[in-house]
Amino acid sequence: MSFLDAREHGSKPGSGFVSSQQEAIDRRERLRRLALETIDLSKDPYFMRNHLGQYECRLCLTLHTNEGNYLAHTQGKRHQQNLAKRAARDAAEKPVAPAPQRRVAVKKTVRIGRPGYRVTKQFDPEMGARGLLFQIEYPEIEEGTKPRHRVMSSYEQRKEPWSKEWQYLLFAAEPYEVIAFKIPSLEVDKHPEKLFTHWDPDNRVYSLQLPFKAPAAPAGRPGMQLPPQQLPPQQLPPPPQLAPPPAFRNM
Ligand SMILES: [Zn+2]
Repeated sequence: MSFLDAREHGSKPGSGFVSSQQEAIDRRERLRRLALETIDLSKDPYFMRNHLGQYECRLCLTLHTNEGNYLAHTQGKRHQQNLAKRAARDAAEKPVAPAPQRRVAVKKTVRIGRPGYRVTKQFDPEMGARGLLFQIEYPEIEEGTKPRHRVMSSYEQRKEPWSKEWQYLLFAAEPYEVIAFKIPSLEVDKHPEKLFTHWDPDNRVYSLQLPFKAPAAPAGRPGMQLPPQQLPPQQLPPPPQLAPPPAFRNM
């Protein structure tokens, strides 16, 4: 820093003066550099460099051509207002002054029963793929927590006899009881546009869209398709007249 200062702001040998316009530019540049050195942008959770080499403010969704421009934006009214809004929201969601040791002792949540839920069957006619949309209502959820889910295989659970036909989908959110849905043990399509969760903190509804891969995959992914005659017989898709998995009727 001091080395750069000495070179850039000292007068050139022989010239004897620096114009006032140049001085103003230098001053701005010096402030910009100072800000860049003082503020560690890598620690700014809202600062992001996109694939085009531009800079983005993830809080305000604004684009910036350089870091200096981004920094100027962070001092502006819009960003400051959004920061204040975000802080207010975080403060409302987080417990005030958590006391870790006491909290562990108090952690025995009194369960308040099962949440309400809705399950919607989904069908993608183009892919021939089925899916389930779960919407779980947690109006009394503990402040600062978010619902979670996980898929449990049949041999992991201890409540029902083992069966390869089924797997279980569990939802948890304190202080509610954990609930489990018995679902067919089809392969889940983990493509991020198909498998997703959403927590709506205003309506307190947790959604999970659980898509299954299409059972027969003649219209499979490009490049992975084999001509039918090359498939060994045991890999042939089940005949279409097979009944759908029982859960689609039971649920
Ligand atoms: Zn911003």
